Amino acid sequence: MSQTEHRRVRARAITESVTNLRPQIVAALQELVRIPSQTGDELGAQLSIATMMRDHGLDVEMWEPDHRLLEPHAESVTIGNGFADRPNVLGLLHSDGAGRSLILNGHIDTVEPGDERAWEHPPLSGAVKEGRLYGRGSCDMKGGLVANLFALHALRQAGFIPAGDVIMQSTISEEDGGAGALAAILRGYVADGVVISEPTGLALVPAHGGALMFRLHVPGLSAHAGARDEGESAIEKFAYLHHGLLQFEARRNREITDPLYAELPNKVPINVGTIHGGAWASSVPEFVVAEGRAGLIPGENLATFKQEFAGEISRLAVADPWLRNNLPRVEWLNGQFAPAAIPIDSPLVSTLSEVWTRAYGTQPKIIAEPYGADMRHFVMTGGMPCLMFGAGDVRLAHAPNESIPLEELFTAVRITAEFIAEWCGVM
Ligand SMILES: [Zn+2]
Repeated sequence: MSQTEHRRVRARAITESVTNLRPQIVAALQELVRIPSQTGDELGAQLSIATMMRDHGLDVEMWEPDHRLLEPHAESVTIGNGFADRPNVLGLLHSDGAGRSLILNGHIDTVEPGDERAWEHPPLSGAVKEGRLYGRGSCDMKGGLVANLFALHALRQAGFIPAGDVIMQSTISEEDGGAGALAAILRGYVADGVVISEPTGLALVPAHGGALMFRLHVPGLSAHAGARDEGESAIEKFAYLHHGLLQFEARRNREITDPLYAELPNKVPINVGTIHGGAWASSVPEFVVAEGRAGLIPGENLATFKQEFAGEISRLAVADPWLRNNLPRVEWLNGQFAPAAIPIDSPLVSTLSEVWTRAYGTQPKIIAEPYGADMRHFVMTGGMPCLMFGAGDVRLAHAPNESIPLEELFTAVRITAEFIAEWCGVM
């Protein structure tokens, strides 16, 4: 048989095996969605996924990350109260073959469900309606975890054994910085490639933006409202600085020509999320404290950006008669997400592209995403090529009525199974 014929036979066997596994895939995702696993409370869902991994014949390793090892990375991950009862879970399939190794990563933690009344089905229902499965975490990203698990399962059921080691990861604490993924890397789990099954709508995402959280202190001068011209309003000074920051954002956007970012209307958003200021309705406000998030693109350095941002604030301050002598102050908060990217011609991208094209007959979308993700840990700390690919729409993540289209999930399972075969080789 020619290689093309081999691939066709394999694809047909995988498709059949995924079709047969559909009820189990849906049941597994329902089981996981029904176990709450907000960041910090991952134990129940992790025990459940460990059982699934064992049922699929994987060797399971479970451990609670050591906060002392993560301490040097405290700026970029949240250590909080530590990791008691918050295990990472890995499912290992060791191979005797000489193929490339692969990590399939997903995070088990979710954000909170928000206001239940905004949901059509209760947030932990796992309800299936018109081809979609509903619930917090359904697309971000228990769907991705289930897709990874069943991709390997479908491949083996179809009679193909990966010729390289496959490490299935269900990690904790992604939503507040990625301590789980980082802990797995620091424990020595590395591979020739990493795929994170975040919801990308089946697009290939080899680059993601970063984010920095800032706090801006703006000084004013208090006076009685009846003589407000004798004071300096910190709220008015904040409005001036904010306007300047939006112009800075627009200028940064204009300078980005990378085609991966072509579809994003705002590639490097600067969002002010909270402002607090003033003390009394009839006093001129003598302070404003604003907090926000600034977006970065791959290639940008956190330290350099911090300087540019602070430089922009001081340039604006110098141009204002009050602020010139009463400088606003920028403070950087924890929760720093560095941007990350791999070269577009990386074998990881081309292999998945080829698999995708064989399945669809067209080219996949290859795009960058503006949000931070665990990918940065794999690329920057682990030194591994990594990309994101998975079913579901990220705009539904963190929102009421989060859901995942099941057809798309089954497609992700099939494509991931073929990707494992192509990346690791099969025996
Ligand atoms: Zn996610």
